[in-house]
Amino acid sequence: MRKILCLICCLVLLAGCGKAPESARQTVFAMNTAMSITVYGDNCEEYAAAACAEINRLSHLWSATEEDSELYRLNSEKKLTVSAETAELIAFASEMNTKTNGALDITLYPVLREWGFTTGEYKIPDSERISVLLSEREAPIISGGEVTLSEKTELDFGAVAKGYAGDFLCELLRERGVSSALLDLGGNIQLIGSKPDGKPWKLGIKNPNGEGNIAVLSIEDCAVVTSGDYERYFVGDDGECYCHIIDPKTGAPARSGLSSVTVIGDEGKICDALSTALFVMGEKAAVEYWRENGDFEMLLVSSDGRLAATGGLVENLEAAAEIRVIE
Ligand code: AMP
Ligand code: MG
Repeated sequence: MRKILCLICCLVLLAGCGKAPESARQTVFAMNTAMSITVYGDNCEEYAAAACAEINRLSHLWSATEEDSELYRLNSEKKLTVSAETAELIAFASEMNTKTNGALDITLYPVLREWGFTTGEYKIPDSERISVLLSEREAPIISGGEVTLSEKTELDFGAVAKGYAGDFLCELLRERGVSSALLDLGGNIQLIGSKPDGKPWKLGIKNPNGEGNIAVLSIEDCAVVTSGDYERYFVGDDGECYCHIIDPKTGAPARSGLSSVTVIGDEGKICDALSTALFVMGEKAAVEYWRENGDFEMLLVSSDGRLAATGGLVENLEAAAEIRVIE
């Protein structure tokens, strides 16, 4: 009898070992993007729901268009005591503005509006009007929790909000003991650990100049953020494509010779800020920035389809085209 009981116990244990862990996938539309959150392990349903609630909260806080959002109020009232998250986000963006020599700039909202990127009613604006808008903006001033904007300055968090939010969500999930999760925040991927079977996640990097993926990345426990000219753009009356990433020096959509920039690193906020800034800078300056700062990896896709990746990434990358190694 004891032998039979032992055998049953062993069989139950074996069945338990082979069972896939519980998983929950929830989708949410936030920050103008379709997002999905997949969590593995105990209580995954509850934790995925908590992550969705948090992204909805941050999306509302940082919307430039919802009239009762904190950002909308700051842009209209010009002086506001903001939440700790918002003060932190503005301080971080200001720091990255300095580090990227102005390529990342959250004061471009009036310029984005003039091009129609805030409403979808696109137009090629008058260049003198753009020069005036560029000259009128000033850096935000943060003192304690109070933020002050000059009369004509309005902020837009489009380039940093998803990365920052991704870090908050990962923190929330990790605090609850989650060791495997994939957060797809529309172009921003944040990974906790590896896949539940212990293997790395496989992420497709979209081909910015055509269909499907241009490369596949095997990776774990990091943020992978892409900025590209294919994400949002319009074709002007002149037949030219105008993308949603603005070069703060000209006030026009960036034409740096890059079609997409993917940045891989530990923190979503850094990857998000850098993918936008390096896109503006173009390949040569992006490579210089990486050589000087180097605590991240990147994949650059040029408008003519060439691929270049930093050395640490190459062995995790599969692509049909040749990849130039940046060292
Ligand atoms: P991303 O997709 O992270 O590269 O962010 C692009 C979004 O950030 C745009 O849709 C604009 O809302 C905003 N944006 C455009 N150009 C810039 C820039 N140079 N610096 C900061 N934000 C920008
Ligand atoms: Mg960005």
